[in-house]
Amino acid sequence: MPKRSVRDIDVNGKRVLVRADLNAPQREDGSVSDDTRLRATRPTLQYLRTHGARIVLMSHLGRPKGKVDERFRMAPIAAKLSEILGQHVPVAPDCIGPEVEALANNLEPGQILLLENLRFHKEEEANDEGFAKSLAKLGDIYVNDAFGTAHRAHASTEGVTHFLPSVAGLLMLAELDMLGSLIENPRRPFAAIIGGAKVSSKLAVLKHLLDRVDTLIIGGGMAGTFLKARGLEVGDSLLEPDLLDAAKAIEADAAQRNVRLLLPTDAVIADQFSADANTRVVPINEVPAGWQILDIGPETIREFGNALSGSETILWNGPMGVFELEPFANGTRAVATLLAESNAVTVVGGGDSVAALEGQGLASKITHVSPGGGATLEFLEGKVLPGVAALEDRP
Ligand code: AMP
Repeated sequence: MPKRSVRDIDVNGKRVLVRADLNAPQREDGSVSDDTRLRATRPTLQYLRTHGARIVLMSHLGRPKGKVDERFRMAPIAAKLSEILGQHVPVAPDCIGPEVEALANNLEPGQILLLENLRFHKEEEANDEGFAKSLAKLGDIYVNDAFGTAHRAHASTEGVTHFLPSVAGLLMLAELDMLGSLIENPRRPFAAIIGGAKVSSKLAVLKHLLDRVDTLIIGGGMAGTFLKARGLEVGDSLLEPDLLDAAKAIEADAAQRNVRLLLPTDAVIADQFSADANTRVVPINEVPAGWQILDIGPETIREFGNALSGSETILWNGPMGVFELEPFANGTRAVATLLAESNAVTVVGGGDSVAALEGQGLASKITHVSPGGGATLEFLEGKVLPGVAALEDRP
């Protein structure tokens, strides 16, 4: 169901309480090392400013565990945001209370007040009703632009919606449109390439996608369990023995639905899990005892490339190997390049795949890069995200 957004309501002169994801990575000295998330909030803030809203902005930062922690103050975020927006963004002394209410009430149209870290209060993650009510006192309208935290029912993502008219921000809207159309009516053929460490964390996604894709490509550590389920020896590779039956069931389901399922046909193997291990490239049925698969091999890269070519839509989630270690980064880099060079609608979700893309400077060549790791995964599993469900439907 499409959600109402800031564009569907009158915000002129109103206090608009915006939940954004300003949880940007920081250096030792607190300064922002990657401002992607901050820049991503600009369209909504810009829209609200030009339409005369008085903006009260809120976010969590890090994991202060429910108490004030000087390392997680919002000041460095406000400094970077001020630079990005070309407007001074002051920080309130707290995120609730009479003093903060007075500051919110005194805002002029177009001005922005950033609240102090929501997670300085344990009531935020507990979705405490009283805390949500206190937040709601700061606005006339609530806008959620934080897709990345929408899978958690917290006071600032769910609780507050019980007390204010609640709509989506432009970033949230774009995310829902993009991921929604991927799941509901993708351009075909639709291929998904899924990697990462474990089958257990991707099982629900694999099941949900099987209903929708034409080709399913599995790489990364999770391929070990699928290979073993096919009767191959995988040496010391990552293996989840209790998921062998689940892997077999996915293979059977794919065959029944006419979904092409591809696994690696060769691999980069190592005699230990380390950057200075001895390595070899072997066909997938020749992994010796004592060795482990840490990346896909060159033949697999070619075959995955062939399987992806001709696709109209490609979804990628999860690295193809232990990409954090240079000798095993090649497969993940190759997949990033395949997607960047493809003419298909390309969607990449999940922290590691996004990091790999950004590391190669390829993010701008992708149709949609979904920033919300856990939220993106849950959406792709077909789950209802509480922070999304709580927003008003478009009539
Ligand atoms: P996930 O969070 O499930 O997407 O998993 C990401 C992690 O999977 C990364 O830290 C990778 O190092 C790891 N990974 C990918 N391929 C392998 C592999 N063949 N063996 C062990 N770990 C892997």
